[in-house]
Amino acid sequence: MVPAVLVLLIGALAYDRARGVVRDVRLADRSHAIIEKSDVILTRAVDAETGQRAFLITGDDRFLEPYQGARADIEKDLGSLRALVADDAVASEYSATIARLIPERFALLDTGIVMRRTGSPLTASAERLLVGKRKMDELRQTIGSLHERENAILERRRVAERRSLRNASIIVGAAAAMAIVLSALVNLAFSRALKERERINADLRVANEDLERQSDALETQAVEMESQQAELEATAEDLRATNEELNRTTRAAEEARNATESARQELERLLARRKRDEEGALLLSEASRVLASTLDYEKTLETVARLAVGDLADWCAVDLVQPEGSIRQVVVSHKEEEKIKWAKALNKRYPPDYGAPTGVGNVIRSGKPQIYREISDEMLVAGAHDADHLAIMRELQIKSALVVPMIARGRTLGAMTLISTDSGRLYDEGDEVLATELATRAAIAIDNAQLYRTAVEASQAKSAFLATMSHELRTPLNAIIGYQSLLQEGISGSLNDKQLAQLTRLRASADHLLGLIDEILTFSRLDAGKEVVQKEEVQLRPIIVEAITMVTPLAQEKGLALEDQSEDARIYTDSKKLRQILLNLFSNAIKFSDDGKITVRSRLDGDMVAVSVDDPGIGIAPENLDSIFEPFWQVEQHSTRRAGGTGLGLSVSRGLARLLGGDVRVESVPDRGSTFTLTLPADHHSA
Ligand code: ADP
Repeated sequence: MVPAVLVLLIGALAYDRARGVVRDVRLADRSHAIIEKSDVILTRAVDAETGQRAFLITGDDRFLEPYQGARADIEKDLGSLRALVADDAVASEYSATIARLIPERFALLDTGIVMRRTGSPLTASAERLLVGKRKMDELRQTIGSLHERENAILERRRVAERRSLRNASIIVGAAAAMAIVLSALVNLAFSRALKERERINADLRVANEDLERQSDALETQAVEMESQQAELEATAEDLRATNEELNRTTRAAEEARNATESARQELERLLARRKRDEEGALLLSEASRVLASTLDYEKTLETVARLAVGDLADWCAVDLVQPEGSIRQVVVSHKEEEKIKWAKALNKRYPPDYGAPTGVGNVIRSGKPQIYREISDEMLVAGAHDADHLAIMRELQIKSALVVPMIARGRTLGAMTLISTDSGRLYDEGDEVLATELATRAAIAIDNAQLYRTAVEASQAKSAFLATMSHELRTPLNAIIGYQSLLQEGISGSLNDKQLAQLTRLRASADHLLGLIDEILTFSRLDAGKEVVQKEEVQLRPIIVEAITMVTPLAQEKGLALEDQSEDARIYTDSKKLRQILLNLFSNAIKFSDDGKITVRSRLDGDMVAVSVDDPGIGIAPENLDSIFEPFWQVEQHSTRRAGGTGLGLSVSRGLARLLGGDVRVESVPDRGSTFTLTLPADHHSA
């Protein structure tokens, strides 16, 4: 850096010096030219003066030629001199003085010439010659001064030139020295640079080797990459295959999804159907429960209709065939009580035409359901009685209707009508099946209720008949027994032994008959709920003993032993009824046993007293254990019966026991015997 600056500095100095030298040379040249040009001007003035003097002397025009030539040229020389001194103020003044003196001198010379030609006196000429001489002297002096000045300038310039030369030499020398130093420096720098370059070269070689190695590595990598590329291509191929596989799988998945979607829809449909089925099953089961809960079918029908209104319809009506054959609407149901009243009034005002080819009458006649999936306005118009009726029907906004028959044991008892309005439900075959099932169950309930009613009425009639008949039989039987007593006592005359024995058998039959009649009467009273209980504090054992005593002849007749193992207890009961129960149980034990021993036991069981009758008889099959307590029910049929009886004994016994707050139960093993146990409350607290 420093050498470069130095070189530049030296260069600049040298350049400056050179420029100074050039300028000095130019200035020296000009000084020379000024001197030369002023000399020429002086020479021409002298030449002109010389030529003029010669003319003056000779009067020969030929001597005027130099004068003429000088006069012609001097103007040019004056111009040249003026140009040379143009930028020099002092020299310009000299030049101006010269330029002024020359014309003045020539004017004097011209005057002399003119005077010569005209022949004027020479005195005048001498004076003029003096003026002319002074002019010439002034000119010479001016030019001489100019020369001196220029020469002085030239001298100064020469000194300056020498100094410049010396300075230039010094500068050049210095520059040369500097150049040497610089070159040495440069050499040094160069050698350093060389070394540096060698080092760099070495580095470059190392770098090259590295590069070669890297290049080798790169080649290896390139080979590897080629193989990787091959692998990648193979992978890409695999990927393409996988992609195709994926596409196929996607398509399959889409198909599967579509299939799943349709399966889902199918499932939803099935679920909806199942839900409906479940709701239907629930409705049916609830209906069955309600229908089974009571035999009051009219009330029950209302409940069923209300159930249908909740789940199946907005309106539900039931029409039943009446005993005389007419059809009557017995139930109409809706969510709102007001609407039910309104519908009943409407039904009264516009009674349905049961003879019409469609509707309830037709369903009852044909026994086939009718479904009106969508009820059109035309259908309303066709079914309306008048404009008012039509307006009401329209206002109802009936959407769909379903009429199903109510059939039980092959008889159509009526029809159930379901109507959909606000719910917007449109009935289909599924609804028809459900409604038919509901109607059938309702019909069966109605049928059962009607049967039950008939049975109850029949039973009541039978009880009434039995009561009347028993009562009527009892009066003459009592008369028979009374007369038998009179005869036996011989009040109307004595009887022989044979007659007395016949009278005893007569009495036994009459007593048996009386017993049967009493049993029937008791049953009738129980059945009618008219049996009266008269409870009192009594001792148990005396009543048991009394009953045993009464049946002992029968037991003896059959060779059966009767063992009383009972214990006494104080009980609060109706002793007559207790005796009647015990007599029944003892009689049966004797009736259905052929040999062995009948044992009577009693025990206190908490609040209850239990009296059990144990027999070794024929026993009772398990399936008959409940039936034997039903009235008129006997294990053996009448034709094959070994023992007599009405089949009312156990029914009456249980009825009485329950009336007294207890019960009669049985345990039995066929061919091994039976144990009948009567339980009664022990005292009046538990009675
Ligand atoms: P009845 O004795 O008049 O036939 P019950 O009502 O007293 O009527 O008895 C009903 C039926 O129960 C009898 O017909 C008989 O078949 C059966 N039965 C009752 N008691 C016994 C018993 N101790 N052993 C076997 N069977 C009996």
